[in-house]
Amino acid sequence: MRCPFCHTQDTRVIDSRLATEGDQVRRRRECVGCAERFTTYESAELVMPRVVKRDGTRVVFDEARLRSGMMRALEKRPVATEAVEAALNRIRQRIQSLGEGEVAASAIGDWVMEELRELDQVAYVRFASVYRSFQDVSAFREVIEGLEGNPESVGDIGRQS
Ligand SMILES: [Zn+2]
Repeated sequence: MRCPFCHTQDTRVIDSRLATEGDQVRRRRECVGCAERFTTYESAELVMPRVVKRDGTRVVFDEARLRSGMMRALEKRPVATEAVEAALNRIRQRIQSLGEGEVAASAIGDWVMEELRELDQVAYVRFASVYRSFQDVSAFREVIEGLEGNPESVGDIGRQS
């Protein structure tokens, strides 16, 4: 790390702590040459893994697409945008914490379903019906039975989709 005052290459870290958001490290540095002190903020370059689709093709992780898929499922549902963003953050963190170069699209889909299930059961069933295609009745029943008995919300699905 080059000193911003005298441009000496040699600086030493005198204090290091996580910034409030937790994904940034705040470092207090002191220049060995001129003894000036300065602060740096460093964050790891987190590269998202590529997504492996069902047919084996690899695509770049597309957060906008993930968000719009969730928003579509949540259309006209009483769920705050911040709650959706928090869910997206958790999904992103799960993908990043894998530490792998690739992630299966189906794994991401499952995490989205987990989040939607917490956010809104109608959105959950909507998303599941698209994502799993409900090729057979048992898959649909499985999702419905997975809900903790809320026939009212399930009744909404037909009207809004
Ligand atoms: Zn210096």
